[in-house]
Amino acid sequence: MTAPENLVPSSNPAQEGPVRVRFAPSPTGSLHVGGGRTALFNWLFAHGEARRQGKDGAFVLRIEDTDQKRFVQDATQGIFDALGWFGLTWDEGPDRGGPYGPYTQSERTTLYREHADRLIAQGQAYRCFCTPERLERVREEQRARKQPPGYDRHCRNLSATEVEENLTAGKSFVVRFATPLEGETRIVDLLRGEIVYQNENLEDLVLLKSDGFPTYHLANVVDDHLMAITHIMRGDEWISTAPLHVLLYGAFGWEVPALAHMPLILAPGGGKLSKRHGSTAMEEFRAQGYLPEALMNYLALLGWSFDGQTEIFSPEDLLEKFTLERVSPSPATFDYAKLRWFNAHYINHVLTLDDLAARVVPFLAAAGLVDSGASDPGHTDYPLVRDAAALLKDRLETLADAPDLMRSFLQDELEPYDPTLLVPKKLGVLETLDALVAVERVLDDGLDVADEVATEARLRGLAEELGLKAGQLFMPIRVAVTGRTQSPGLFETLRVTGTVRCRERIAAAIALLRDHGDETLTAD
Ligand code: GLU
Repeated sequence: MTAPENLVPSSNPAQEGPVRVRFAPSPTGSLHVGGGRTALFNWLFAHGEARRQGKDGAFVLRIEDTDQKRFVQDATQGIFDALGWFGLTWDEGPDRGGPYGPYTQSERTTLYREHADRLIAQGQAYRCFCTPERLERVREEQRARKQPPGYDRHCRNLSATEVEENLTAGKSFVVRFATPLEGETRIVDLLRGEIVYQNENLEDLVLLKSDGFPTYHLANVVDDHLMAITHIMRGDEWISTAPLHVLLYGAFGWEVPALAHMPLILAPGGGKLSKRHGSTAMEEFRAQGYLPEALMNYLALLGWSFDGQTEIFSPEDLLEKFTLERVSPSPATFDYAKLRWFNAHYINHVLTLDDLAARVVPFLAAAGLVDSGASDPGHTDYPLVRDAAALLKDRLETLADAPDLMRSFLQDELEPYDPTLLVPKKLGVLETLDALVAVERVLDDGLDVADEVATEARLRGLAEELGLKAGQLFMPIRVAVTGRTQSPGLFETLRVTGTVRCRERIAAAIALLRDHGDETLTAD
């Protein structure tokens, strides 16, 4: 006869009553996009799907900072900032409080100790006095015998007297869970269905470390229960510990929340997405000029789809359409080019011009091109930023592209450029010089570049008068005014640059070409 199954309550997806989910990052560094995607799905489930069904969907933010060795100062603030920038709002959390606080695990250590004691008293956990040296020896022996590594349960059967003696001797200990040695444990993952684990393959997990701090497992289970979490939606990497958590819930006599492990995010060529493939932290994408709504749209589609076709979803659309049921358990591949495509789409087709202008300003200000107040519509630079943004938005893939592309519109003087760029194909230096002098004269005669139609007519006429093809005249003008051979349409570029600056830049180009011509002639 097989051993009795562990009678643990199964996950209950058809939860009645309020839905409560949590995002529970550990402050060990910057928030990874994978974490951002998990947070997003939790938020969409609580604030979207659950609320649409008339259930109170609460999204809880809990900081899991009990691993003192991996703790990084300021990481918690970084997580708040990244999530806030991303556009997620949490209903309860360390910074907001709430009925189930505190929401930072290091402030809840007494609770975890009490729960560990409770399991010891029930005979479902035990103190383990094994030294790190002994544990290493056991591991080595296991390696030598080609056995899987794991604790050999040496302290599981210590007598009460032995335990007392060790405690009196002041030996340090951890508390381990006494995992059932036989039988099986089932988990029900909402995306994957039922998974059955053989208990004999499970370890006696450490619940409390020798410093009195809980491990992730104990703290996570205790908090999910005490915070009344109904659905645990977390990264795929935790699925292997889910049976142990399910056993822990059973040991406490608690119902297991519904479980859903989000699909893995793979790197472009396969494998885990890591720094060597490109940016992985939410804050890096922010610094690189990605829009939070474009990143949100992109990350939502890493694992979820609405109809397998629609690609563009605003945050509001996502809240309206997201269902957990349509999240696939299969790994999703992170595609940087696709993310750029989404970002360019949002810049070009979704943001209003005022919004775009306001969002490029921090990037322009960091490059010293405007002051940071220029995002205010009342600021003197604002109209110029807005006009330049209108001209260039279809070339911007990220906001960080703005300084380079918009520089010529915002600086009084152009950056130095190569004078030979002024000279078009099949034209000599002197002819180019004559052409620019003629353009200067036209401007002096009162051509106002604010009128694009009149400017175009006048300059086309001038090309004819000079016996040049239009392009042969337009290229030197373009280079003189922007410092580069490519720009948006010439006449709109001239309009946004303004007559005064155009005139100054044509004059500067003439001077540059004269010097250059002198050198060329001398060299000849
Ligand atoms: N603190 C864990 C992490 O950062 C949370 C895992 C979970 O959501 O259960 O991945």
